[in-house]
Amino acid sequence: MRASDCDILVVGAGPAGSSAAFAAARKGANVLLVERRQQVGVPVQCAEYIPAVLKGQLELKGDCVVQKIGSMHTLIPGQPVKKTVAPGFIIRRDVFDQDLASAARKAGAKIRCATKAAALLPNGNVILSPKNRPAFVVHPKVIIGADGPRSTVGRWAGSVNRHLLPAVQITLLLKAPMTHTEIYFDREITAGYGWLFPKGKMANVGIGMVRPSGGQPSIRKVLDNFIQRLKLDGKIDGAPVTLTAGWIPAEPVRNTVTGNILLVGDAAGHTHPITGAGIFTAVTCGRMAGKCAFAAVAANDVAILKDYDHGWQDLFGDTQARAHLRRKQMEAGWSRFDKIVKQCWVAYREYYDESVY
Ligand SMILES: Cc1cc2nc3c(=O)[nH]c(=O)nc-3n(C[C@H](O)[C@H](O)[C@H](O)COP(=O)(O)OP(=O)(O)OC[C@H]3O[C@@H](n4cnc5c(N)ncnc54)[C@H](O)[C@@H]3O)c2cc1C
Repeated sequence: MRASDCDILVVGAGPAGSSAAFAAARKGANVLLVERRQQVGVPVQCAEYIPAVLKGQLELKGDCVVQKIGSMHTLIPGQPVKKTVAPGFIIRRDVFDQDLASAARKAGAKIRCATKAAALLPNGNVILSPKNRPAFVVHPKVIIGADGPRSTVGRWAGSVNRHLLPAVQITLLLKAPMTHTEIYFDREITAGYGWLFPKGKMANVGIGMVRPSGGQPSIRKVLDNFIQRLKLDGKIDGAPVTLTAGWIPAEPVRNTVTGNILLVGDAAGHTHPITGAGIFTAVTCGRMAGKCAFAAVAANDVAILKDYDHGWQDLFGDTQARAHLRRKQMEAGWSRFDKIVKQCWVAYREYYDESVY
């Protein structure tokens, strides 16, 4: 099989991959973006909150945004509700991802859906495997792995996520309109939290926690208990419309460049280890990775790719390091629930207090 050349192969058309493809193609690079799903953004595995600052940076079509959010309410049993300013939006995540991919296409990137990056050969060729069609080979100068928490490209680079938290979510009817998000801590949701995010007349209700071990209730059971509680509180109603699940990386800061391979977004463990939010960093780091990959191709020098590690670590490194430390404390100290939650959740002063280490 003869390999066709391309400057940059981007694997995965989530927010990270489409943003990387956009940034590199806009500069003039020959970019191929492959996505294993049939359709970009489908199915949705997300609570669909983005901070207002991100929307300001993107040209999103009107139908992508469902509603505004003004604040986040944190609920801990026996404590007053903590209200924090958190301006943002609830989006249609499928439309959001499709908007980003179409911006990449307009900038000149070629996009192939239903095409899986299957293997990296020792000569640098990559085997791409389209669904129901013969595999083909490309020879990219740079590979950007934006293929999510259980990244194949990360395995090629020897840089994989080691701590993944399971998350499950249902969508069902919201009983009264809300313009804030709600975060629930409960002993049963071990070292994690439950969320209720309004989405117009609907609600995204989910939990993310450490994997239950022997004797503990299953994550599905914990979700069911959480749903019952919200129903009794009169917040939600009816039967689930959708059920989704996914993995949230909770990683320390690590280098994400190996040879001609860069990792970005969930593949790089860029998700916030405490909140689980990853869309903002995926887009921001995706753009950085795309620009840096273009610079390396233009100069014919992969050593330039190291600038990407410096760039994202300058921006997010401290935030991520603190969140990772808090995650370790939260997991180790969950039996001291009343104390540990305030120390380890972003809404409280203690989270930012460096003496609480
Ligand atoms: C239940 C849940 C709720 C969440 N809620 C929020 C939220 O409200 N706000 C927020 O900011 N973050 C949230 N997150 C996190 C957020 O969804 C991720 O951080 C974000 O999707 C990361 O983007 P990404 O582009 O790196 O990865 P992804 O969005 O996972 O995209 C990776 C893409 O790569 C494709 N792919 C994988 N392997 C291959 C392969 N071998 N070849 C080709 N394609 C491949 C996948 O199909 C996928 O489309 C949530 C996560 C979960 C699980």
